[in-house]
Amino acid sequence: MEALASFKKEISSPKKIFITTHVKPDADALGSSLGLANYLLKKGHEVTVVTPTDYPSFLNWMEGNDLVLDFSREDHQKSATKALNEADVVFCLDFSVLNRVNELGEMIRQSDAFIVNIDHHQDPEDFADFKYWSTEAAATCELVYELIVELGDKELIDKDIAECLYAGIMTDTGGFRHPNTTKNVHLVVAELIDLGANPSQIANWIYDSNSVNRLKFIGFAISRRLVVREDIHTAYFAISKKDLKKYQSRTGDTEGLVNYALSLDGIKLAALFSEREDGIKISFRSSSEVAVNKFAASYFNGGGHKNAAGGKSERNLKETIEKFENLVEEHQDELFDQEPVSSN
Ligand code: 5GP
Ligand code: MN
Repeated sequence: MEALASFKKEISSPKKIFITTHVKPDADALGSSLGLANYLLKKGHEVTVVTPTDYPSFLNWMEGNDLVLDFSREDHQKSATKALNEADVVFCLDFSVLNRVNELGEMIRQSDAFIVNIDHHQDPEDFADFKYWSTEAAATCELVYELIVELGDKELIDKDIAECLYAGIMTDTGGFRHPNTTKNVHLVVAELIDLGANPSQIANWIYDSNSVNRLKFIGFAISRRLVVREDIHTAYFAISKKDLKKYQSRTGDTEGLVNYALSLDGIKLAALFSEREDGIKISFRSSSEVAVNKFAASYFNGGGHKNAAGGKSERNLKETIEKFENLVEEHQDELFDQEPVSSN
């Protein structure tokens, strides 16, 4: 049977469903998970949503947030494991390689459940029974919307679901500014607005909920931790553990910082290096013609989208930055010598 047909059959009667998404979920990861969860609940399924780690508090307004289990919390792990062991269907949203969900990855690989992967990242691993995957999609939320429509259930999308899905599309397009902002993006969000999503309310929940510490941290980072290398069209932030502690940084506080580096005139490659408990976390952003996902995958054990990717490093902060600058210098011809493109 064709994969779509077996998927439809799989969810045609009430099932035990497990939904997960990548570490440190963003609005697309959590919005697609909760948007889908709320839809599946309406269809009569039993649904558990598990995130591998915590996520920023500016996402807590999403319907279903209170029921999310965080696998990194000891008090949630047992029920999350039980839900995965008992699941008939497992949905993997907004990631395509199993190492993006920490220990849950191997558990999913071993699972006998029907595995569904809904995602828009490049270079997917082959672990799913049904893949609803397209790199043309700006957000996983766009794909979840399309899947619900394809299943003939558009009328089941209520305000709560529309809000979750709108949020992911809004943030993954950088507020409808990145090169992935297509006509289809606008058509889908127009539908979501019709179905109850309020754009300014959602933008307010996500973008206008800063703490004073976070704002001061951003000011500090821009004035003291930004390095601009105009000669190689590159700018980056290097944030130490001490910096994060000084500003009592919470999950999500560094989100968006890297965009300030990319906003500089003439800068085509931006990076944020932040020193965490388990090594250096790296965010890359680029102008349309520069492929940072390939760069992240080749040199920093990461991946992502053409113009927004991430990776990690086990070296210390100083050595990681030296490696980064050397690599950009060495590969500047292939990185920057491309024609600008209108979409990714
Ligand atoms: P961010 O910089 O916002 O953490 O991530 C940017 C994009 O790259 C997101 O789509 C995210 O899923 C992806 N990404 C971030 N870190 C990694 C990583 O370590 N591995 C892979 N494969 N993708 C990543
Ligand atoms: Mn996404």
